[in-house]
Amino acid sequence: MGKPTGFMEFARELPGTRAPAERIGDWLEFYEHFDEEKLRQQGARCMDCGVPFCHTGTLLDGMAAGCPINNLIPEWNDLVYNGLWREALDRLHKTNNFPEFTGRVCPAPCEGSCVLGISEPPVTIKSIECSIIDNGFEMGWVVAEAPASRTGKKVAVVGSGPAGLSCAAQLNRAGHWVTVFERADRIGGLLMYGIPNMKLDKRIVQRRIDLMAEEGVTFVPNTEVGKDYPAEKLREEFDVVVLCGGATKPRDLPIEGRELKGVHYAMEFLHANAKSLLDSGRKDGQYISAKDKDVIVIGGGDTGTDCVGTAMRDGCQRLAQFEILPRPPIERAADNPWPQWPKVYSVDYGQAEAAAVFGKDPRNYSITTKRFVGDESGRVKEAHTVEIEWVQENNSRPVMREIPGTEKVWPAQLVLLAMGFLGPENTVLGRFGVERDDRSNVKAEFGQFVTSEPGIFAAGDMRRGQSLVVWAIAEGRQAAREVDRYLMGDTDLP
Ligand SMILES: Cc1cc2nc3c(=O)[nH]c(=O)nc-3n(C[C@H](O)[C@H](O)[C@H](O)COP(=O)(O)OP(=O)(O)OC[C@H]3O[C@@H](n4cnc5c(N)ncnc54)[C@H](O)[C@@H]3O)c2cc1C
Ligand code: SF4
Repeated sequence: MGKPTGFMEFARELPGTRAPAERIGDWLEFYEHFDEEKLRQQGARCMDCGVPFCHTGTLLDGMAAGCPINNLIPEWNDLVYNGLWREALDRLHKTNNFPEFTGRVCPAPCEGSCVLGISEPPVTIKSIECSIIDNGFEMGWVVAEAPASRTGKKVAVVGSGPAGLSCAAQLNRAGHWVTVFERADRIGGLLMYGIPNMKLDKRIVQRRIDLMAEEGVTFVPNTEVGKDYPAEKLREEFDVVVLCGGATKPRDLPIEGRELKGVHYAMEFLHANAKSLLDSGRKDGQYISAKDKDVIVIGGGDTGTDCVGTAMRDGCQRLAQFEILPRPPIERAADNPWPQWPKVYSVDYGQAEAAAVFGKDPRNYSITTKRFVGDESGRVKEAHTVEIEWVQENNSRPVMREIPGTEKVWPAQLVLLAMGFLGPENTVLGRFGVERDDRSNVKAEFGQFVTSEPGIFAAGDMRRGQSLVVWAIAEGRQAAREVDRYLMGDTDLP
């Protein structure tokens, strides 16, 4: 433990961000960086509490509590406090293949479980993680490390999101030949074509992919397994197949007017915007524009926030976001105690940007959309809503009830549906004939990751449903360990 009194001397601080009204003028990351002295102070706040819940990585009440990849947080906090950056980087890479991704986009369940957080604001874990890896790259310490020898075994990974990438990195490290198939034109899954550039710069994603290619992983983009590349061929050519295709089937809103032009799934909007930005700096115009439009975002989660941030940068005229649930409390509720993930009200980057321009948080809670109305050309022009209340009778599940007299009409020329995802797509799973669970995800026990078909494994959102980058990395790593055991009879992978 670096400084026994650190948590009493130093207050929690976060790195600054560029001013919301300024940063919507570009697509660059909005975080600023701590200087070294600040980082050491924040690392010194770690109390060496003895039972660090921050790295437990478990599910409590259905939500992650502690770090799902079991990052050795107290160890690297101490190393940072003592200025031992190289050692901190080595500790971080022991558990996490891609800290530069989690350090930027993870919602940090570790901080929700920090023991200091029982009585004081928790340790600034995520920002320290990001600084350790960014510093590692700056110092030239992160270099390609190809395995010393090869086993001759061949593994195909289907899907190049964080689950596929971490699985590939680990299996390559164990000496297997790994080929990653991706149907998109760029590698990275939702790291590349979901989470927008201002939250995770795509050069950072590409840098890691390039390193993996240098280490010997083969990437095959523009290839949809089950369509462009037959599943049987893959099974013949490879010793093992790992399915990491994500949970990309979006939840629809089947109400009157859904078919109108201008009503899109969030991912159509985000994918096209990211691709146009990367292909041409948006000069090709191949994106769904929010410019000068009244935009409605339906759904209050991460995807909705990314739609808000993207629409703000695109110059929307007005923006409203609808959330069907009530506004969360400011403080933890009694039924949401530490070390659970705190379900509390917070303002994410997109909402801060909308508030800076339009004067208020764009979120409207306890509201549902009844129908969309179009103009004579079939384009959406209005969204009709009603406020709701959640009523619980006789200990049953709360049910939604409309409040009469609260109907409202919102002008809307662009509507983005960001209401979550229903599970993996059918094509590839049908081709491999793997069993599904009752939520339509691939059936494969956590910890074993093998599907109903021998030699076929599954990891990430395709197995657990739409989740978090950190869970995808955790699953990819653990699936790699089981694949290695299956191929070699034993494994040294963590
Ligand atoms: C808009 C958005 C924002 C998000 N923001 C965050 C965030 O800030 N923080 C966070 O922790 N999590 C976030 N998430 C969740 C996170 O991105 C996912 O949980 C994570 O990416 C899942 O990783 P994965 O590897 O399982 O799947 P994915 O990242 O979905 O990757 C799967 C890949 O498989 C490919 N594929 C599918 N089928 C085939 C096939 N047959 N052949 C070849 N390729 C195929 C797909 O094209 C895709 O590229 C966000 C999700 C969305 C949608
Ligand atoms: S990966 Fe996420 S949960 Fe784990 S230490 Fe980093 S921010 Fe915390």
